[in-house]
Amino acid sequence: MLKTKDILDEKDKRLRSVSKEVKFPLTKKDKDLINTMITYLHDSQIPELAEKYDLRPGMGMSAIQLGVAKRIFVVVNEIGEPGEGEFETYILINPKIVSNSMEKIYVEEGEGCLSVNRPVEGIVPRYARVTMEAYDMDGNKIQVRGREELAVCFQHELDHLNGILFVDKIDKKNPYKGKDQMRAI
Ligand code: ZN
Repeated sequence: MLKTKDILDEKDKRLRSVSKEVKFPLTKKDKDLINTMITYLHDSQIPELAEKYDLRPGMGMSAIQLGVAKRIFVVVNEIGEPGEGEFETYILINPKIVSNSMEKIYVEEGEGCLSVNRPVEGIVPRYARVTMEAYDMDGNKIQVRGREELAVCFQHELDHLNGILFVDKIDKKNPYKGKDQMRAI
């Protein structure tokens, strides 16, 4: 079972690598990795389990955060009422953005990242809506749409595959630069 301490910290240089395209069919190792990530994200969002296993809550994780430089990320998004334990899972392999809104948003309370363990001030500009193209675990091409928080999550995870962390996107001199041109979520 994956523990929070197994997730690479931002100081780890591996997070800066550009992950490689995944070849199909997936290996057993690839599949195990994906399932491990899903389990962590799911359990981490259920308060009792998060406390029991000392999991830091997160809704997205990229393979590189576990030291595997492959273009894979997973998102476990809570739907319905908070605390009801209803989730939808996205597995995106070799993902890319095929279209995006002009409108930009930012997460008002700040973006979180399982690899960044410190408070960070500032805003990260993101598209309000994105359409992603990717492959599923069987190698089928899929298209998924995300809006609001889910869109932010897709873009955040895609950045990980390119060695980019959300903190890189915050203007160093003026962390709230462009705030008035974007909508807070
Ligand atoms: Zn992250």
